[in-house]
Amino acid sequence: MGSDAAQRLNDLWGEVADIGTAAALLGWDQETHMPAGGAAGRASVMATLAGIAHAKLTSPELADAIDAVEDEAGDDPVGLAQAREARREHERAAKIPEDLARALAETTSRALVSWQNARAADDFGVFRDDLAEVIRLTRERADALTDGAGNPYDALLDEYEPGITEQSVAQLFEGLTPALSALVKAVAASGVAVDESPARGEFPSARQMELGIDVATKMGFDFDSGRIDKSAHPFCSSMNPGDVRLTWRWDETDFRPALLGVMHEAGHGLYEQGLPPELARTPIGGAVSLGVHESQSRLWENLVGRSRAFWSWAVDPVRHAFPDHPPFAVEDMWRALHVVRPSLIRVEADEVTYNLHIAARFEIERRLVRGDVTVDELPAVWDDTYEDLLGIRPQSAADGVLQDIHWSMGAFGYFPTYTIGNLVASQLYEAARAELGDFESAFEEGEFSPLLDWLRDRVHRHGSRYLPDELVDRATGHPLSPEPFLTHVRRICEDNYGVTA
Ligand code: ZN
Repeated sequence: MGSDAAQRLNDLWGEVADIGTAAALLGWDQETHMPAGGAAGRASVMATLAGIAHAKLTSPELADAIDAVEDEAGDDPVGLAQAREARREHERAAKIPEDLARALAETTSRALVSWQNARAADDFGVFRDDLAEVIRLTRERADALTDGAGNPYDALLDEYEPGITEQSVAQLFEGLTPALSALVKAVAASGVAVDESPARGEFPSARQMELGIDVATKMGFDFDSGRIDKSAHPFCSSMNPGDVRLTWRWDETDFRPALLGVMHEAGHGLYEQGLPPELARTPIGGAVSLGVHESQSRLWENLVGRSRAFWSWAVDPVRHAFPDHPPFAVEDMWRALHVVRPSLIRVEADEVTYNLHIAARFEIERRLVRGDVTVDELPAVWDDTYEDLLGIRPQSAADGVLQDIHWSMGAFGYFPTYTIGNLVASQLYEAARAELGDFESAFEEGEFSPLLDWLRDRVHRHGSRYLPDELVDRATGHPLSPEPFLTHVRRICEDNYGVTA
């Protein structure tokens, strides 16, 4: 794409991207370094930047530039992809009336506070009215996006995972939920209690930090093009492939949250550092979707970080970091890292139960958006759904319907990307194994580049040139399927609990 039209689109798009980067940096600062007193002032800066970005994204000049690139592209797949992605975002932004966007921003900032208060007080009533308003405005937004025709939930899902629909997600869960539910209930009935002592003890935070940085570096994360800081909720935020920021937190009595958390965020970070520099600031220069992003973090966290091969290597660095911790066998650590336990809180869920938490939210959300469940019915519907899928019932709203921040932010359609991430991770891992053979034996030497190189080639270097479905199909040779993931979790349940289902 060297034409004038392409150049013009990239110039205009680059400005939108730069404003987004400035907002991302301010957002990162807010979570890591900003004093509490800065919140109000920061909110107005963010609102101003969002307004400027929106004006540029919906401008007639940008619309003309997209048309010109599309006209010129002919059969050029890169030009067509640039126009497709730019048009997607341009049209989305243009379809939302300004007063609706403002009403949503105001309502969600109020709802965020009432959600926090409601959760602290364990009282759904405190959140009820604001949530009802967020849902009403979200439906209005979905109607605007679909021009009043088509499925409103599809429009919401598509925002996070381009191309997916309520039906395609429902199909994935049909292949997944009954099998997982049966496994989890069989594990609960097995009576097996796994010894978690290899992961527990005293782990000074400074040592955990050194270990985390060491592991992330071995994985291939480049600290000359990235950094790591402390935050309340771990995340990865990227300014460009040369400036990728991770955050972490720790528990001084259990090294799993920090170590696996760093591997998770570094997995996101490797994707960002591997995006093609020549496409930076263009419509296809970024990561393709939240689901594919999550596949990268989950792959490193769960498939690498919990593997026996990884621990054959990690046993020494861990012993070095925590010399007072009693020696452990790799197999015992493997067992401690694969505890399966039905629980009420999604963010603490293990690999096997996790997607049941998402299945519950998906079922509830689609009924909410359809209007089949009212806000007042929500707490009871939540509890019933948990009892049905996980076999346990929340005893409080704080442990039930109030646990996640997403709905207060108007993020409906977001949750399924977590499950897509888990499924894509297993499918990529299986495809890499089929192609590369036994790359895990390199882990035993602390060598991860065969796997990283494969991910760079199949996923990272493409940016958002392909839609997520197409990317997965091209990378693995198959459409997205729950099977590789199910094979993985069945093995966990069999090895650790002696159960099959
Ligand atoms: Zn993540």
